Amino acid sequence: MTTTRGNLTGTPVLVVGAGIMGAGIAQVAAQAGHAVLLYDMRDGAAVEAKAKLAASLQALVAKGKLTADAVAQALARIEPIGQLQAAAGAGLVVEAIVEQLEAKRALFRQLEGIVAADCVLATNTSSISVTAIANGLEHPGRLVGMHFFNPVPVMKLVEVVSGLQTEPAVAQAIFELSRSWGKTPVHAKSTPGFIVNRIARPFYAETLALLLEQAAAPQVLDACLKGAGFRMGPCELIDLIGHDTNFAVTQSVYEANFYDKRFVPSLVQREMVAGGLLGRKSGRGFYRYPEGVPALPASSAAPLAGVRELVVHGEGALADAFAQAAGTAAAAVGVVPTRERDSRWTGLSIDGARLVMTDGRCAQALAAEMGAIEVAVFDRPVQWPMAPGSTLAYAVAPGAGSAWQTQAAAWLAALGFSPVQVTDAPGLVVARTVAMLINEAADAVLQGVCTPEGADAAMKLGLNYPAGPFEWLTRWSVPGVIAVLEALDAHYRGERYRVSPWLRRQPGAVAAA
Ligand code: NAD
Repeated sequence: MTTTRGNLTGTPVLVVGAGIMGAGIAQVAAQAGHAVLLYDMRDGAAVEAKAKLAASLQALVAKGKLTADAVAQALARIEPIGQLQAAAGAGLVVEAIVEQLEAKRALFRQLEGIVAADCVLATNTSSISVTAIANGLEHPGRLVGMHFFNPVPVMKLVEVVSGLQTEPAVAQAIFELSRSWGKTPVHAKSTPGFIVNRIARPFYAETLALLLEQAAAPQVLDACLKGAGFRMGPCELIDLIGHDTNFAVTQSVYEANFYDKRFVPSLVQREMVAGGLLGRKSGRGFYRYPEGVPALPASSAAPLAGVRELVVHGEGALADAFAQAAGTAAAAVGVVPTRERDSRWTGLSIDGARLVMTDGRCAQALAAEMGAIEVAVFDRPVQWPMAPGSTLAYAVAPGAGSAWQTQAAAWLAALGFSPVQVTDAPGLVVARTVAMLINEAADAVLQGVCTPEGADAAMKLGLNYPAGPFEWLTRWSVPGVIAVLEALDAHYRGERYRVSPWLRRQPGAVAAA
């Protein structure tokens, strides 16, 4: 039985559910040359979906992106059907119906009575266990997750999700078919959130945690993460997705993980959902619409004050870049910087005041350890080189004088950043978010959900991240990431920031513990 499931080239495809996802999947399959049958339980829905698809493809012809011929051929391959029985000859079913376990199970059980025994059954579920959907089927080994992203014709990623009973040959056949449809498939194990929806949780959660403790305004946090290369900040992205949808995914991952505190949803978001502040679609979320994200006040850094002694601390690419930028700025104030490469921290010492790149600890903790008052901590530029003038968060130790606060910002501006002050939260904004994304990805790899390469591809293609979590890890360091997580853990206490055993197992990790 497994042999005939190995090759799906040119097989007739049945798409069930003619909503947003089903229509997109039908389009992609038809454009790849498959005969496509489109079925929806709502009368007329499949016909309407095809008509809508025709209109959107014609618009692409008008823009010169597709030829009229190619569109006519693709549309001719899509046949809306009113009865599932008409799909007996399908070699592949892709299900994109309502996100309910019982509805999906019932549909696949019904389909087993219609299609041949070697027909592959794929589900586009975004959150339900593939293992659970297959339970009760006559041939559970032929059911696999084929998780597309919205909009299907545009997004390259397909998570190929194997449940406990999925035959490897079936997963491989879907993997290869996805590739032949122009997609980038990534294998995943059926666990809550699969790859993308699981690893992405901290992107939202860390910002929501910072909002809860009033560390900064939404537009400040968004600007910091955009400074790190993310196309959208978490707040504007949640407003776009809809707080109800984003909250539901977070809740489902939390519940599915037996209420692991690591995934605990946010009070900030629950209140917004309860109040109907759902984002763009309701006219108000973190921001008001149509206005959108308010601009940050223009950064007006004070000029650098005269300096007697400037020392650049640390080694590595970032410290080198700081040394170069600081050297240029120092010349203007008549001082030649020296370098302390074997320092335990990275940053600048300016007449004894310390401007320290975060290692996860607050400025207050650093000030206590250093026995200094004039201490400021700044966020890690994870995506280096940053675009000139990118927003970067900094915080100042309590008790530091106002002159130092002004000079800390002036020196960050001299290093090429657009500094924004936030409260003295551990790991500031970007360092804690990226450390947690890496940590979550590390746990996913630990649990066999995906490979590091799979995680990187999934996050870049599924969510347009500027880099994959393991790419960030390579540019940063295992001890550096562990240090940030441990500082967060020490500060907040609890399960949320526990370090993945996968990270602890990496070469060089023990030195940091
Ligand atoms: P949708 O509401 O736009 O479309 C669902 C369609 O399925 C509707 O037309 C409905 O009439 C039909 N339907 C419902 N029950 C049916 C049944 N038993 N038999 C036949 N047709 C039935 O939903 P969508 O956004 O296209 O999502 C479909 C699936 O794809 C869900 O499992 C969802 O979790 C998943 N998904 C959605 C997205 C997304 O961004 N929308 C992304 C990835 C995966």
